[in-house]
Parts: sequence; C-alpha cells; structure tokens
Amino acid sequence: MTQLNTPYPATAYLTGFLRAHAGDLGVAVTQADASLGLFLRLFSTPRVAAMAEELERRARVARHAATMPPSIAHFLTHAQRYAATVEPVVRFLQGRDPSLSLRIVGREYLPEGPRFAPLAAPGSDDPLAWAFGTLGTTDQARYLASLYVDDLADVWRDGIDPQFELARYGEKLAASAATFDALAAALDAEPTLVDAALEELTLELVTKHQPDVVGMSAPFPGNVYGAFRMARTLRTAAPAAKLVLGGGWVNTELRSLREPRVFDYFDYVVLDDGERPLLNLLARLGGRSASLVRTYVRKDDAVVLENDATQHDYPQRDTGIPTYDGLQLGDYVSVMEMLNPMHRLWSDGRWNKITLAHGCYWKKCSFCDVSLDYIGRYDKPSTDIVLERIRALIAETGQSGFHLVDEAAPPAGMRDLAKRLIAEQLSITWWGNIRFEKTFTAELCRLLAAAGCVAVSGGLEVASDRLLRLMRKGVTVEQVARVTRAFTDAGIMVHAYLMYGFPSETVQDTVDALERVRQLFAAGCIQSAYWHRFSATAHSPIGLHPEHYGITLRPPAKITFAHNDVAFDDPVGTDHDFLGGGLRKALYNYMLGLGLEEDVRIWFDASPARARRSRGRGIARSAPVPATTVPRDLVARYLA
Ligand code: SF4
Repeated sequence: MTQLNTPYPATAYLTGFLRAHAGDLGVAVTQADASLGLFLRLFSTPRVAAMAEELERRARVARHAATMPPSIAHFLTHAQRYAATVEPVVRFLQGRDPSLSLRIVGREYLPEGPRFAPLAAPGSDDPLAWAFGTLGTTDQARYLASLYVDDLADVWRDGIDPQFELARYGEKLAASAATFDALAAALDAEPTLVDAALEELTLELVTKHQPDVVGMSAPFPGNVYGAFRMARTLRTAAPAAKLVLGGGWVNTELRSLREPRVFDYFDYVVLDDGERPLLNLLARLGGRSASLVRTYVRKDDAVVLENDATQHDYPQRDTGIPTYDGLQLGDYVSVMEMLNPMHRLWSDGRWNKITLAHGCYWKKCSFCDVSLDYIGRYDKPSTDIVLERIRALIAETGQSGFHLVDEAAPPAGMRDLAKRLIAEQLSITWWGNIRFEKTFTAELCRLLAAAGCVAVSGGLEVASDRLLRLMRKGVTVEQVARVTRAFTDAGIMVHAYLMYGFPSETVQDTVDALERVRQLFAAGCIQSAYWHRFSATAHSPIGLHPEHYGITLRPPAKITFAHNDVAFDDPVGTDHDFLGGGLRKALYNYMLGLGLEEDVRIWFDASPARARRSRGRGIARSAPVPATTVPRDLVARYLA
C-alpha cells in the first residue's frame, strides 16, 4: 500500500526507460499497480460482505460482542449498509459519480462509525466541525466519504489483519528489521482475507501478462510484506518467471543484506536507480553476455553483490519519458484526510510526477541519507528535456497537474522552467519540494506563481538557529520567514517540514521552536506543517559520526536483513515523547487558524498524571513546561 490518489512514479519511470532502451532485446514491458488493485478489491461489496460474515462467525464463537473494538461493533450493526454503499462511495471518490455528494452530505446515506465522532454532535464546538461547515458540498461529501473509508480500513485492521493500513501494509515487519525472522513467520502464517485478496490479484496479473520477468518496486517498508506475498504466489503460479526486487526501501535498508532466505522469494535484488541494473539483467536473461550492476544474487547459500563498476548509470537526459501506460488512471481514489488546503495536495487529486533533477544539489544535512545515491548523486537534465516530458505526460494522461518529486528542486531549474512555461503558454499546475533558499526572492516567487506553481514544501526542521547550524541545513529562521512570506504573498501555499528530538535538543529548544512556528503561522508565512520525530539513520552523517553530535549509538544487533534507524542515547535526556503530543496538538489547531494568540505552553499537558508517567519511565523532567524565551515580535521584526 502506498497512496490511493496517484501512482507512485517508479514504475512509470522504469517502464518509459525500458521501452526506450530494451526494445532491441525483444522485451515488451508493461506495468500494474498492485497497491491500488488491493484497495479496490478490499473495498468492494463482495469483500466487505465476506469480512462481515467472518467477523459475525467469530463473534458467535467468542460470544463477547460487548468487548469488541468500537470499529467492529459499529460495522457489524450496519454491515449490510456498508456492503451496499462501499462501491458507490469508491466511485464517488474516483470522481465518477459526483451527484452522490448530495446524498452523502444529507448524513443519512452513509453508516457513520467512530471516525465521524468529532462531527457527530450538531452545533459541536469542536474545531473540526467548525472548519467542516465552511466547505462546499462536494468537498464536504469527499471528507465524509474519506471518514467512511477510514472506518472500513479500521475494521480490516482491527478485525481481519492487524498489519493492514491504507497507506502501509506490514510496515513493522520490514522497517529496520535486523533479521528476516518476523517477516518469514508472517509469510508462513495462515493467510488472512487481505492476503487472499492479494493472492487472487497476483494470479489475475500472471494470467493477463504471462511474464518472463517480474520487477517489483518497494519504495517504503509498508510495501515489503505485500511484495514478498506476491512473490510467494508467483513462485507457484509462474515458476519459470524471474523475480526482481528494488525500490526506495531496498536502496536504503538492504545495503548490508546477508539473508539467503530472501532469495526463496526473489531471484535478484537490485540497488539504487533501477535503469542500468534492469537493462543489464534483461540482457543477461536474454542470453547476451552482460555483467550485472548493483545486483544481489544467492550463490551457494551466500548472498553476493555483483557489481560491474565500469558500467555507468544512465544520465537523466537519457532516461526517456515516463509513461503511465498500463495503469488505470481513472481508478485512483482521491481522499481528503485533512481539511487544510495545502495538506490536501498529498491525497486529493491525481498528479503526474516529474523531477527537475536526480538527487539533491545541497546534500549536506546531517540527518539525511546524503551518502546514498538517491540523494548524493546530483544530475540535472536540461529544461528542454523536462518540458518534453511534461508535454508527453499531458498528451498521455490528459491531465496538467504536476508534482515535482525532487528531493529539493533547484531554484535555477525552477526559474528556467517557469520562464519557458510562460513563453510557450503551456498551462500547468505544479507544486514541489524545495529548500528555503535566499534565492527565492519576491520577484522569483511571483514568476513561479505566474507559471502555475501553487504550493511548495521545505524543511524548517527544528526552527532553532543553533540546531539548524548543527544539522547543516544552510538556512536560518529569519531567512525561512522572509522566503516563506514571499511565496505566500505571491499566492503560493507553503508547507514546512518540522523536526523534534534532534541530538542535544532541550525542552527550552522545543518550546522556543514552537513559538517561532506559531509566529510564522500568525504572520501568514506558512499554512501547513508537520512535526517528524528525529531518527538517526545508518547512512546519514549523524549515523556515521555520532560523536560529532554528542550522542552514542547503542551496540547494533547482528544485521542480516534491513538496516536503517539506529538506536542512540542523548545525554540531554529530554522527554521528546511527551513534547511530541503538544507539538502535534498545536499544529492541528494552527492549521485551522485556531489558538494562534495563545501562549504555547497551553498545548502541553502538565497534569500530575503526566508527571507520574514521566517519573515512571525514569525521565527526570516532570516540571512544568517553561515559558518561551523568544520575543513575541521576532518574526514581525524579521519581516520588517
Ligand atoms: S534534507 Fe533535503 S536539502 Fe538536506 S540534504 Fe537531504 S534532500 Fe538535500
């Protein structure tokens, strides 16, 4: 499972590349999105009815309906209505049946489960209910239908398969899993209804495509269990097919792979950009003499990395034009998980995905995987090539929305692109990830807006100049304030990635960071943000040189499988778990425009119960959260 509203770009890139370069090998290439396929299967009338039958059977056996999770109890009470409404709701979220919005907003059509609780009471003064009332009918219906989908996903998870979530499946089995044991046990366990649906889907794909080689992309840990499950089915259904695993999770976490059991499922595991490794592998499998590139194989029960270092990756100018051919673009489902307009971009609407460049031009941030190829190797094709890809994708999909999925889009490349879009009167809507560089002046922001840029996201991280220096982010809070304000003034929405729990971060640092974020919201510099908890990763400068950041890594487990997050001790000992709750609560309200004048201490629960919990975990700090030391007009002064 990845996202429901748009295809993940990896297969579109690889399909375009292989069609351009593998033709003389006699290879025909097609692609399918098993993530969307699984969702559509589970959210269908027959599957929802089968789930109800299974849960009712279990309830009869257990005779303890009263102790069921609320999600299941509600579902069983309204199972027939769920089965009758699920397909119309999915069609509505696919944009195929807009008229259903009027029935949905009437609030009698959908069974409304626990996810609707904040909206339940008419006249409720919950901020969500208040913001909801300001939406138009279609958006209200989309939001309600999304809550309905979330309710059903909760039932799949709570009742049928605890590993299942809408955007990840079996994530914990793969994320930084030092050994293969837990994943192997899950793969050998009795299949759930979700597993059965995935098996059925895999068999249909095999019958339809009769593949000789199947490449699977696992961009995140939440795709890995599904990929292995599919591989297991393929081993039986298409025993002659060669199976290849790659993707972002592999590139990040399988760099120390030693586990031969992985090759019971896959014949090859490829690292980093897939273009060159796949092309050479296909040539080899086609009987040509070709060396393998960054490809793990099993030899005599040992894992060996074959890598012909004389073979170079294809430069970005030669990787061809991505294609969505083969994917059912009309089937993607737009959900509205957040009312915030910037946040909605990630889950609402289908976006063509392109990059201005491979890797990051900055590649210095100490928490980032800068030693890995996908960040560390910067390669920018010309604007001509980017435009050619944009035109081709519009012609193929009929859609002109583009998400720039760069690690950090280069400002000069954005300027060039904007000028060309305007000069050639090519009308597109686009947004993407950037660094909050000084280069983004008011003039450049206006140019980008005129060329169709509607939103940017970028890292402000801890919002503390001391910590921004330590993380080598290359920006200051003052700079971020001015740049983000320039974007907002130009009509471009801004989302800030925030971080807490960085090495040496104190309670005072966190409270002061929240105060700066509060002021940025209040001054209209940013409209949306998200706090990520810092984690030290094996391939970042912090993971490689923890002593420079005052932390000590805990002795690693014996790693034969996945390796990414590394546990560490920070002598400062701040209770980041506790602070994280307050930070999230504050942001939730700020994004709705609420609580912006309040003292930031109100978001932290300083109750005696919390103090007891802190002491119980051996954390010394149980004193009330301190007042901020940041002047209340700091951001106003920066902007002046
Ligand atoms: S965090 Fe972003 S800006 Fe920093 S090195 Fe990584 S990709 Fe580049």
